[in-house]
Amino acid sequence: MAENVQMEKLVALCKRRGFIFQSSEIYGGINGFWDYGPLGVELKRNVKNAWWEDVVRKRDDIVGLDCSIIMNPKVWEASGHVGGFSDPMVTCKSCKKHMRADKVFFFYVLDEKEMADIKDLQEFQKKHSALEIRVTLPTALDVGIEADSISQALEQVDKAISESAKKNNVPNFKKCKILKALVAEDGDEAFLRVENKLGKKCWVIVKASKIAKQGDDRPCPGCFDRTSLTEPRQFNLMFKSYAGAMEDSTSEVYLRPETAQGIFANFKNVLDTSRMKLPFGIAQIGKAFRNEINPRNYTFRSREFEQMEIEFFCRPDEADKWYKHWRDARFQWYIDHGLRSSRLRLRDHEKDELAHYAESCADIEYEFPFGVSELEGVANRTDFDLKQHQEHSGKDLTYFDDVAKERFIPYVIEPSGGVDRATLAFLCEAYTEDEAPDEKGKMQSRTVMKLHPRLAPIKLAVFPLVKKDGMPEIAREIHQDALAAGLASFYDEKGAVGRRYRRQDEAGTPFCVTVDGQTLKDKTVTIRDRDTLHQDRISLQEVVSYVRERVE
Ligand code: ATP
Repeated sequence: MAENVQMEKLVALCKRRGFIFQSSEIYGGINGFWDYGPLGVELKRNVKNAWWEDVVRKRDDIVGLDCSIIMNPKVWEASGHVGGFSDPMVTCKSCKKHMRADKVFFFYVLDEKEMADIKDLQEFQKKHSALEIRVTLPTALDVGIEADSISQALEQVDKAISESAKKNNVPNFKKCKILKALVAEDGDEAFLRVENKLGKKCWVIVKASKIAKQGDDRPCPGCFDRTSLTEPRQFNLMFKSYAGAMEDSTSEVYLRPETAQGIFANFKNVLDTSRMKLPFGIAQIGKAFRNEINPRNYTFRSREFEQMEIEFFCRPDEADKWYKHWRDARFQWYIDHGLRSSRLRLRDHEKDELAHYAESCADIEYEFPFGVSELEGVANRTDFDLKQHQEHSGKDLTYFDDVAKERFIPYVIEPSGGVDRATLAFLCEAYTEDEAPDEKGKMQSRTVMKLHPRLAPIKLAVFPLVKKDGMPEIAREIHQDALAAGLASFYDEKGAVGRRYRRQDEAGTPFCVTVDGQTLKDKTVTIRDRDTLHQDRISLQEVVSYVRERVE
């Protein structure tokens, strides 16, 4: 299935079935904001609950916290967000599009002479920097694409090249077909072998953009104009508001752009009240707000989203050990909840990619239909944050190690994930089209959300085969028993039983129970597995325990 087609189908299903709606849709929506419907809110809650249970409840070295969204603005001065939480933004003066300068990828076409020279791309890459081989022929094919990663940009390159060629009347490039793409290890350079309409093959080189100054004559990704991109300027991503009756600079406050700083600000409170000893962590799930320049890819880049973050404090000499522990544990968590390992990547940052305060950092990335992108970051943030808050607040944030008889500021390892991004990854992974037999045993195509049972919004659906002979009464009783036992159950007696199965397949319900003629005789029901379509016959009494064993 073409990638964008899969995404379109998923978005349509999410709206149709009540997983995700556009925020304030009746007023035309608002860019970067999303609402979760009845199924979506259960799915998202299950994601958060699974995380909370695994990292807080099942461990004795992590405690939870729930901080306010608006905090004293000094928190954001200390953390560096007031001064530095910004993205470089360029604007096209012609089409008025705003873009993140570091998220625009430029594609250059090499001339024929260079093409002939390329035997070994590795050698080629060593010899040239991408900007040096910015060639001339035909320049109309230079395109810019705004995307989160090079692999996302690659998804769109053929369309962009074709559009640019059409717009600039380049004769042979009516259509461009990508034959091969090689992406460099550091992820900001790629080589594409393309074929034009006349069957001529050439290489295209891609380099992550750093639009350095105005007049770089880079084509705008929106309108292809080469003279209209402004110089990048820093754009602070924090939403501002006012607390209290006066709207002036003294009452200015920020909506938190991350949950982490609330944890650092409460480090001493938690330490004093919980008597935790190093190593220990503080976990928080909550809303975060970022005025993203260009929200995109459905809920992937939103302006309001939820984070699930742990700040795990430890001795400096144990930081590397804990960093590796969390990096690997968090990677495994996504696999354990159904993401295919072949679609997950663990990408360690190069030293020159690291934030100035971080000693090491890894991104857990997932191959979304729109490209490989970050799900969660795990970083060794050293003692940077606590030191900053100690300095700005004047409060002692040191820890006394009573075994080593030492006082110091702990190091911190931060696994920081997005609830919405994780939910989106689970939805993308779950979306499946396959075939299932209808009532007459004829194979029919079906859409099924193969969500991990622990995350599925509904665990069990109960149907009476027909609406008579006492079947609805028995089915309702099973349904009520399941609800009373804490299992999310759904009762449905409307329409043909095959249609009812399809509706539950789309909702991702792992088990469907049907009360039929035989139930009346021997008190057994059929229970059908969503993925294998296998049906078991079990007694009425067993239903709750059967499902529970398989979904928890
Ligand atoms: P990006 O480079 O994609 O903007 P980031 O590296 O700035 O992300 P962090 O500051 O490390 O992200 O935030 C931690 C996590 O919060 C991310 O891994 C992601 O899951 C989530 N997150 C960050 N920004 C957004 C957003 N705009 N929409 C949804 N989730 C987000």
